Amino acid sequence: MDANVLERKARRLKERLRACDICPRRCGVDRSSGERGTCGIGARAVVASWGPHFGEEAPLVGRNGSGTVFFSGCSLCCVFCQNYGISRLAEGEEVSAEELAGIFLDVERAGCHNLNLVTPTHATPQIAEGLGLAAARGFSLPVVYNCGGYERVETLRELEGAVDIYMPDLKFLDPAFSARYCDAPDYPDIARAAIREMARQVGPLAVDGKGIAVRGLLVRHLVMPGGASSTKEVIDFLADGIGRDTYLNLMDQYRPCGEADRFPEISRPISRKEWEEARDYALARGMTRLDRRGG
Ligand code: SF4
Repeated sequence: MDANVLERKARRLKERLRACDICPRRCGVDRSSGERGTCGIGARAVVASWGPHFGEEAPLVGRNGSGTVFFSGCSLCCVFCQNYGISRLAEGEEVSAEELAGIFLDVERAGCHNLNLVTPTHATPQIAEGLGLAAARGFSLPVVYNCGGYERVETLRELEGAVDIYMPDLKFLDPAFSARYCDAPDYPDIARAAIREMARQVGPLAVDGKGIAVRGLLVRHLVMPGGASSTKEVIDFLADGIGRDTYLNLMDQYRPCGEADRFPEISRPISRKEWEEARDYALARGMTRLDRRGG
């Protein structure tokens, strides 16, 4: 995307940091002067790590890896978070927009197939600014927005044209679960609207002649124990509301992390049977692009 367009987007987004409403929490704090809301991040983005990553979905990884940049802090508060130190304790280095642009350019120089922004939601103003500076210096990789699904449509609209591939989680569609495990009773409505907007912007996942993703939507759903992730509702929503050709990664790797031990019903891994039931339901609902590395 044109560097000037990105710069205008960044300016509008950064203006909103003065009474932050970037994500659905709408904390209203003045992050531009260093105040912090639920995400725990102030005026500058904090980066935990970056580099080629080979554990992502095959269309992102290809031969050379997906160029992940892990942003510290998070606006969701998942009790089962696998990256507690990064998401809740905000471990990492504060970076300027120039430094962030340098990281994006380094990822491209490393030969990665894409720039994979991990947990970007609360850092969208800084990311837009960094992308603008990088674009002015020739950055051209597809941009992956790898998020928890808890996104404001108003913020996503600012990202239109800047993001090529949306990769949201769709964690649950039952407000009782999202309230209990993420302190976000509005997660189901917010995530449904967000994924509809993402699908409108980029459509189904498109790949090039080598099978590498170039544009589109890729949804992740982590199957949780005892039906805690409302998996059938998630699959029904995708099949009926977005499209049976939606690329869906049905993830089997749930482990009780973070504070999950405080919740007995999710303090165990999922069973093989639970995951197979989820896979079989997705197939029965006609989902045609199921990433099922679990089996
Ligand atoms: S981005 Fe952070 S400060 Fe802003 S509304 Fe979201 S959680 Fe609150």
